[in-house]
Amino acid sequence: MHTITLIPGDGIGPEITRAVQDIFAAAQVPVQWEEQNAGQTTFDQSGELLPQALFDSLEKNRVALKGPITTPVGKGFRSINVSLRQKYDLYQNLRPAKTTEGISSRYSGIDIVLFRENTEGLYAGLELWDEHHGIGDSIARVSVAGARKICRAAFAYAAKHGRKKVTLAHKANILKVPGKIMLDAAAEAAREFPQIQYEDKIIDNMCMQLVTKPEQFDVIVTTNLFGDILSDLCAGLVGGLGVVSGANIGDDMAIFEAVHGSAPDIAGKGIANPTALLRSALLMLEHLGEKEAATRIENALNETLRHKEQCTGDLGGAASTQQFAQNVINNLK
Ligand code: NAD
Repeated sequence: MHTITLIPGDGIGPEITRAVQDIFAAAQVPVQWEEQNAGQTTFDQSGELLPQALFDSLEKNRVALKGPITTPVGKGFRSINVSLRQKYDLYQNLRPAKTTEGISSRYSGIDIVLFRENTEGLYAGLELWDEHHGIGDSIARVSVAGARKICRAAFAYAAKHGRKKVTLAHKANILKVPGKIMLDAAAEAAREFPQIQYEDKIIDNMCMQLVTKPEQFDVIVTTNLFGDILSDLCAGLVGGLGVVSGANIGDDMAIFEAVHGSAPDIAGKGIANPTALLRSALLMLEHLGEKEAATRIENALNETLRHKEQCTGDLGGAASTQQFAQNVINNLK
């Protein structure tokens, strides 16, 4: 039995979390949940954004499933997500994007896995507001050690999962210092994994090629902000944020999360699509070595997705979050 820290989050978080819990219970997955919340809702209730009890639970269990957390835009507290990634050095943000039968998209045959560096770059928190001169700075810090870790992780993943190619996305023509660090780190990792083809692309060209010929890409590795944007672009290629999974992985801890936000516009209506969080929970099962259970639930999910009427409104159906979960349960073999 695996004990997992469960962070339901804000907005639609508790609704989609409940759906995942119901599906796991019905599939008799050997997982028990230890619920510890964080974020706006927790703050409103207890005055704490990130309670110590959550840290204690994470440090004990080392694996968590997290719903979306509201972050104020342009003011207020620092992102909880970024804080957790940095506190526990969850340096890999893993974002698979694959076209699935039943989920409408402009493309077919896409199967991309993106590795975003998760703790440095423009997210390093090095921000300065010089009120006197009216100047704002955000420093993009890339370390040689951080670049080596994320590039090696991408190549190691490619080798382990029978992937053929890794593409580094960068802006080394303009951002020469961090760009060169990433180019050197990727070249070093490519030498260690000679069976994996390696190429690099400048980020603007990369965006254009991703929308014109996305099927050419296999594994992508990049720095934090480029990865943030590219991963949502990749999600858009395969049906949107409501259907893609994500994971924050370090050497000894992993937090799996829905990549969409807390969707305040639909929170409390019971219509949110739980697919993204469920797929993240399936990544978590693979991480725990429970591949068989993951495949069984994935098959039931894919069967549900093939029938629009069994899905939530964002996928063209009319099912509620709980009905969708029940449909996945009914499709379990
Ligand atoms: P959002 O992802 O919450 O919503 C964007 C649109 O997608 C909305 O119309 C929403 O209704 C829809 N949507 C999102 N998830 C859906 C789902 N599962 N089913 C159906 N529709 C869904 O993005 P936003 O509005 O830019 O952000 C809202 C809040 O979420 C902000 O506070 C932001 O900081 C936070 N956020 C958190 C995370 C995270 O915790 N990982 C990620 C992104 C945004």
